[in-house]
Order: sequence, then C-alpha cells, then structure tokens
Amino acid sequence: MPPLARPCKPRAITLPPRTATVAADADVLVVGGGPSGIGAALGAAEAGADVVLAERYGFLGGNATVALVMPWMSFHTRRPQPPRLGDAGLMPSDHGEGEPIVAGKHLDVIRRLVADGGAVAPSLATGYTVPFDPEVFKTTALDLLDEAGVDYLLHAFASGVVDEPMGSGVVFETKSGPLVIRAKAVIDATGDGDVAAAAGASFEVGRGTDGLVQPMTLMFRMVGFHRPDFAAYVADHPEQWRSVHGLWDLVAAATAAGELELPREDMLFFATPHEGELAVNSTRVNKVLGIDAWDLTLAEAVSRRQMRQIVSFLRRYVPGFADSYAIQSGVGIGVRETRRIIGEYQLTGDDILSARKFDDVIARGTYPVDIHNPEGKGTLLRSVPAGDAYDIPLRCLLPQGVDGVLLAGRCISGTHEAHSSYRVTPTAMATGQAAGACAALAAQTGNSPRSVSPRAVQADLKRQGADLRDVIAA
Ligand SMILES: Cc1cc2nc3c(=O)[nH]c(=O)nc-3n(C[C@H](O)[C@H](O)[C@H](O)COP(=O)(O)OP(=O)(O)OC[C@H]3O[C@@H](n4cnc5c(N)ncnc54)[C@H](O)[C@@H]3O)c2cc1C
Repeated sequence: MPPLARPCKPRAITLPPRTATVAADADVLVVGGGPSGIGAALGAAEAGADVVLAERYGFLGGNATVALVMPWMSFHTRRPQPPRLGDAGLMPSDHGEGEPIVAGKHLDVIRRLVADGGAVAPSLATGYTVPFDPEVFKTTALDLLDEAGVDYLLHAFASGVVDEPMGSGVVFETKSGPLVIRAKAVIDATGDGDVAAAAGASFEVGRGTDGLVQPMTLMFRMVGFHRPDFAAYVADHPEQWRSVHGLWDLVAAATAAGELELPREDMLFFATPHEGELAVNSTRVNKVLGIDAWDLTLAEAVSRRQMRQIVSFLRRYVPGFADSYAIQSGVGIGVRETRRIIGEYQLTGDDILSARKFDDVIARGTYPVDIHNPEGKGTLLRSVPAGDAYDIPLRCLLPQGVDGVLLAGRCISGTHEAHSSYRVTPTAMATGQAAGACAALAAQTGNSPRSVSPRAVQADLKRQGADLRDVIAA
C-alpha cells in the first residue's frame, strides 16, 4: 500500500462550528513537552507562575524520547586542539571540552537523570556529551514537573488559538473533544512554531536559496553490540572511523553490492549509558517538511526501509554487530527543522561563528553550525571560536506582531544557519527556561511578554542558576 497521494487539485470544505470545553486557566501555558517545553515549564514555575504544560504524545521529552535523539550534545566551549578518539570513537570528541556555558534547569535535569540511573554525567570520557536512556528520561521529566507543581495534559494536540489578543487561549484536539486552555502568556515549545503560526506570526522555512530544510532521520537503538570487536576493527582501520561516524569503505562495498541505498555516505552512531547498546543516526530523508502530512508519511515509509537495510548491513559487514538487533525505533521520525518564527531579532550564522554578545542575552550556545545536507550526502560543520560562546537575545523569543506568545527551542527566531546550532537539546532547554521566566514575569504584571525588561528576565534567570556569563542583572 503506497502512502496516500497528495491531491492534485485540493478542494476546501467548510467545517461546522463547534464548542470546546475550557480545561484550565493558568498564568503560563507551555505547548510542547520536549526539552524546551520542560525547561519553560520549570523556569516559569520557579518564577512563581501557575503553569500548565500540554503535549501531543503520552509522554514528555520531545525529540529526545519521541525520536530517540541521543546523546545531548556538549554545552561546553571548544578547546583549540585537534579531535581525539575516545571510547572506540563512539563519543564525539571535537565539539566542546572546555567550560560549561549552559546551567540552570538543564543542569538540574542532567543531575536528576544521573541520580535516577538514566544518564552519564558529561566528562572527557563522554566527549562532554550526555548519553542518556530515553525511557528513564520520560519518568524523570514527569517527576520534575510534579515536584515543581506544573499541571500537565498529555495526548493533547494544539490545533489553533482563540480570543484576541493572542495569548488567551489555545485549542487542543483530544479524546475528550476540543479543549481550550487559557493563559496570560503562552509559550510555543512545539518545535514547529504551531501556536505562533496559528496566532498569525510570520515565519521562514528552510535555507534562503531554495527553502529546503535539513533532512529528517529515523533513529533507532541497537543492542547486542560487542564493543571490543568494534574497537579492534577501529584500531586496525583508523582511516575508516572518525569520532562517531565513518565506515566509508564498508558502506561503499554494501552499496556496490546493492544492499544499501542511502543518501548518507557513512554511518553515524553514538554510545548510550548501556554497554552493548548504540543509538544509530544514519537514515536520511531529504526534501521533506515536518509540517506537511504527506511528507511526514512518505518520510516514515522511506526511513523505516532504510533502517531495515542499515540493521542488515551492520550485522553482515561490521565487526561487533554480528549478534546485534534493533530493539526500538523512534515513535516518529526525527524532525530537525521546520518553521523559524520571525522575532524581534533574527540570530544569524555570523552571530554564531563570531560568538556575538548581546545586552539582552538570556541563553548561550557553543554547538557548531551543523547542517546535514538538505539535498543529499554530506554535513557542513563550522565551529564557534575556541573558548567562546554566542549569546541568544531575548528578542529572538518574541514573535513580531503577536502579543502574549513566547518562543522556545527549535522555533525561535534565527536563520537556517543559526538554527542548525541552537536547535540542540541543551540550548533548547536554556531558551525554554528563559521563555518561562519571561512569561511568568509578564503574567505577574498582566502585561505582554515584550514589555518585560530584559534586565528583569536576566535577574530571574540568574536567581534560577542560569549561566549568563558576566551580565550584571539589575
Ligand atoms: C535526527 C535528529 C538528531 C539530533 N541529534 C541531536 C543530538 O545528538 N544531540 C542534541 O542535543 N540534539 C540533537 N538533535 C536536536 C534536538 O533533538 C532537538 O532540536 C530538540 O529536541 C529541540 O527541542 P524542542 O523542545 O525545541 O523541540 P522538540 O524536541 O521537537 O519538542 C517539541 C514537543 O512539542 C510537541 N508538539 C509538537 N507540536 C505539538 C502540537 N501542535 N501540540 C502539542 N504538542 C506538540 C512534540 O510532541 C514534542 O514533544 C537532533 C534532532 C534530530 C531530529
């Protein structure tokens, strides 16, 4: 059965009017329970707000659990030294080994996950990434929200907004019919900017030249991997494996034999907290968009066939994998890039690569510009200057022309190039916490988030333990 074809001549029909149940009134509504939504809910609660978080799936974590995106990338500055190989090259070694620059709720979550046995603390041995167990993360996230007093509604898909001015209500499709949650400030942590777009915010999609976005990737976990055999292979074939990716010759051989047909030219995988397990990040579906139902369907169908090929390839060709098998794939394909909502400031690739500083900094990042080729093979990586980090200004969280809504995570305001850096988990959680603090301050005064002074947000974030370099809060 092929995926449903897109209609050649789409016809519109008018739906009957309907009523909805008001499910809650809150100070702050967070839509989306991924890393940025978790950061936002915890940040808003600590700033004193009455918070509700709503999520479309039955669990929290976003890409980290839905799409098995592992590990959390480094949030440390880069050292001016060449990459090293560590742990059979299963941990990234060239992203950041210097000073940590994201703290606050992100560090609280890591500490808790480590205490719950669900993550390995970042260190030289992990390449300063955080390998974690997504199943443990789901429950740890619930515990943290419970302890912070955040109310949450799962299985609730935000489909629209109601009332003017915006910020007063979001409509959710649920098994109980349409529900509306009203709030003084709404944080769009959907990754896709669903709420801001529904409220009328302008947005961009894809790169400037042709609108293409980064590819989607279905990730999966392999168990039964025998690390010593793989390490021996890496030692014997150092030219075939750089930190976390490679096997070029084996991929070429399997491709020539007609056993692999992939847009990627190599294999990419990461260690997890569990010996004998890997997270495989090697499927790639280009020229599809994560806010298009037909594209998403096609991407699932294509990537699951790619996964089948990769599992078979690893078992057959790669030392250490003979007895391995795929134990779990993402509930859904991982979506890297969709809408970038246009805010009061648009962060640029140049801001990232020059480690630019802003007076209204509310979060910081060090992860490189990392663009998986939107058209096919290859990945562009360009680093932030060694020992330095870039600022993300509060203005990137404020959509132009829409009041009452704040942006967090993947959908904040930036260019395609800048997005490829700030999209990673630690930075997403940091922008989430900042959006939470700003939304709570707005709710307390009854004003729009854009009227909250950046100094007040910085002061609250500093009180919450965020790392905003040497900014002196008023
Ligand atoms: C394949 C892939 C590999 C990656 N690799 C890494 C990596 O190794 N390390 C790293 O740190 N980062 C990595 N990233 C980036 C990182 O995973 C994400 O960008 C990060 O999860 C962004 O967090 P977020 O909260 O902004 O969005 P998301 O994680 O996308 O979370 C959004 C949440 O909102 C929910 N939601 C969406 N729409 C609605 C709606 N309308 N109503 C209700 N709920 C909604 C979703 O279900 C989800 O829970 C990768 C991403 C992908 C796709």
